[in-house]
Amino acid sequence: MNVAFYRRSVCPLCESAGCKILCEIPYGDRTMANFIEQFYQGRVAAEVLSTETYRVVACEQCDFIYQDPILNENGMQALYQDWIDNAQSLHKKQSAKSKLYRQYAGQVHTLTRLFDQRPGQVRVLDFGMGWGYWCRMAQAHGFDVTGYELSPQRSQHARAMGIQVVDKLPGTGAHFDYIHANQVLEHLPDPLQTLKDLCARLAPGGVVCIRVPDGRGVADILARHGWSPQLDAVHPLEHINCFTRKTLTGMATRAGLTPFNPPLRLNWGSLWGGIRREIADRLLTTHLYLRQ
Ligand SMILES: [Zn+2]
Repeated sequence: MNVAFYRRSVCPLCESAGCKILCEIPYGDRTMANFIEQFYQGRVAAEVLSTETYRVVACEQCDFIYQDPILNENGMQALYQDWIDNAQSLHKKQSAKSKLYRQYAGQVHTLTRLFDQRPGQVRVLDFGMGWGYWCRMAQAHGFDVTGYELSPQRSQHARAMGIQVVDKLPGTGAHFDYIHANQVLEHLPDPLQTLKDLCARLAPGGVVCIRVPDGRGVADILARHGWSPQLDAVHPLEHINCFTRKTLTGMATRAGLTPFNPPLRLNWGSLWGGIRREIADRLLTTHLYLRQ
């Protein structure tokens, strides 16, 4: 199978065929072609994209925003293994500021308060773990952590840091108490099915935490100003699903999950920032904690 594009004939969330086009730009268009050339540093052969179109649509039934067409399986493999600059991605992670690690630690502290068991008894899956740094943080807090990742380079790096990595998910069953999916579901062709597959591996009382880029206002911006490279939530080729809190909650509900608010996490040292984060996470953002 060659690298090619295919159409998503129905909405990936509600399977409705009715959608309206929010934005349509041929990949051969000069601005778009320049963006792709610069972003992927010339690693995408022009002929792969030349006859295709970057198109963002919104489902008329459920308002979900998604790209159509998208790359086929071989295309996705080429994108994440060859076109993306993996060395740069790793360097970015390795030279991250302490803020990133504070965020990871904060998320793991929240996880600590979701379960009564000791951390070593809580089985955690980081689905799409990337280079494995969140796993390492959870592991340092004593959790029983497993990482899953499609990219062999990333898996290998995580293994070398001592993370337990699986190349394929175990069969259905109560394997995990907590499943973390951070910045993953926006990349996948069938996010609802993936979420259902994850739920089928969740233990009773288990929790799923999903974080995706925030697509709030994207439809309006596309309608008023058109596409621009700054619109990260609809990044060409990569962010093929663009969620708002409403559509993310809708997807979770279809997978049989119910959102809930985790315990408040505030400290005196950064009280105002903490309050702002807690209000945003409870009302606005595309960060959800979910239970079956
Ligand atoms: Zn829909």
